[in-house]
Amino acid sequence: MKLKGIVIVSSKVFGEIFILDKMEDFNNDFEIKDIENLFESYIDYLLEEINGMDEKYKEYVNFYVNILRSKSFLQMIKNKDKNLLKSISLAIDEISDKFSLENEHYKDISIELKFFKNELLDFISGKLEKENFKEGAILVAKNLTIRQSLKAIKSNIKGVILETNALTSHPILVLKDKGIPTIIGIENVVEIAKNYKYVLINNDEVEFTNEKIEIIEKPVYISFQEDQFKTKDGIPIKIQINIDFPEEIEKVKNFDIGLFRTEYLYLNGIISKNEQKDIYEEMSHKIYPKILTIRLFDLGSDKVPISVENPNIRGIRYLLYYNRELLNKQISAIRLANKLKNIKVLIPMVSSVEEVLEIKKLLEDIEVGIMIETPASALITDRFKKIVHFFSLGTNDLSQYTLAINRSDINFQQFHPSVFRLIYYSFSKSKPKPFSVCGDMGSNDIGLIALISFGIRIFSIPISYLNRAKEIIEKLDKKVLSEISRKIITAYKEEEIIKCLKFYLDSL
Ligand code: PEP
Ligand code: MG
Repeated sequence: MKLKGIVIVSSKVFGEIFILDKMEDFNNDFEIKDIENLFESYIDYLLEEINGMDEKYKEYVNFYVNILRSKSFLQMIKNKDKNLLKSISLAIDEISDKFSLENEHYKDISIELKFFKNELLDFISGKLEKENFKEGAILVAKNLTIRQSLKAIKSNIKGVILETNALTSHPILVLKDKGIPTIIGIENVVEIAKNYKYVLINNDEVEFTNEKIEIIEKPVYISFQEDQFKTKDGIPIKIQINIDFPEEIEKVKNFDIGLFRTEYLYLNGIISKNEQKDIYEEMSHKIYPKILTIRLFDLGSDKVPISVENPNIRGIRYLLYYNRELLNKQISAIRLANKLKNIKVLIPMVSSVEEVLEIKKLLEDIEVGIMIETPASALITDRFKKIVHFFSLGTNDLSQYTLAINRSDINFQQFHPSVFRLIYYSFSKSKPKPFSVCGDMGSNDIGLIALISFGIRIFSIPISYLNRAKEIIEKLDKKVLSEISRKIITAYKEEEIIKCLKFYLDSL
């Protein structure tokens, strides 16, 4: 049986089907014994973290170890809720509230307890997902959570087929950056797959079968000597690469890393200053003399839900106002790692000049850029221009916050006239500072054409999109680009813009 879908990473692969039809669920009926075991492994992790550190850190950690091993704490958890994570969270809140009612000194402990809670919950949710997916199989699911995407990568999943059509959702972008052959938007695919043993992914088509098919698998990567592609009439377009995991840098030759999303390090438990420093330093050496742009942890809210006491805060505001300790660890790690001076720092979810000044104070001689991914930052690009070294446009979040619709929603579209107006405005106010695009619109055929037509000349894209980007760029020229930008800016409706861009794409 053959079905068509939306290609995220184009490839030809064949493999056994692995169906995932239950979503993450922490509502397990837990036993005190399970919690004790989980806490013991967290204690091991804490003790390893402070190995070789001052006595004062040991005292600090002992305070938490005592809480985690106290019988009354375990009992508090058991009595709270059927959901394990929720009951741990409520129990720590209860302790924290008790401290905050006491004197000033205890108030500090109460704040620290909240940080401790976040880290503990994160550690435990990672541990609950113990089982890996079937190695080398093709994963079929309705949708994935971010943790499931990371697990698919760890399990060396060969390809992914999903029902959702949310192109710019975090779990799908991770697969795209990693170059895992992925097709989405196939209705009812989980039920269909249950009748078959194998599946072939071939570009935008999947074929279900019960017999093995011999194929020659198409490699996703090719290498390039130059980090720029030229339009038909010679306009140079500089290309950089987006990565989510340190090992992806191995495949990147002759390109700058325009975006390294560090939040996945965090999700994999890499939090300490030393671990981070070693990773950043090794990456900076591997990519040298090219540039490594490290984006500060983009945690919280819809990205990586973490801040239990304030679930709506995300990116730089989470780091500055809710987890200064984590921010300090990351900044120190980056500064120590930058021996070759080829690291730049990118700040996520910026909304005010003050946030940037605060970070710049900590980074001294390292170049700092900001993501333009909130309407707030797009509208005051001129104010940032004086204090940043570069801009990076995050079209995924800029669209979701402009259109007030979650980027994982099936109705999410990023080609709305208002999104383009904001982009056009921000870009025009950014000059002469470098302005690149790292959002998914730059690695989408019609999106790339639209953004080049606006005059944008730097794109940070997944390595899996390199060949296609080159193919498209080489067909463009000034005449067609100026026609396109005029049509986008004067359009009234999203459909008009998409239709026009598709028309040009087909005629290239
Ligand atoms: C974006 O928002 O466009 C972006 C590149 O950041 P992320 O997808 O990591 O949120
Ligand atoms: Mg973003």
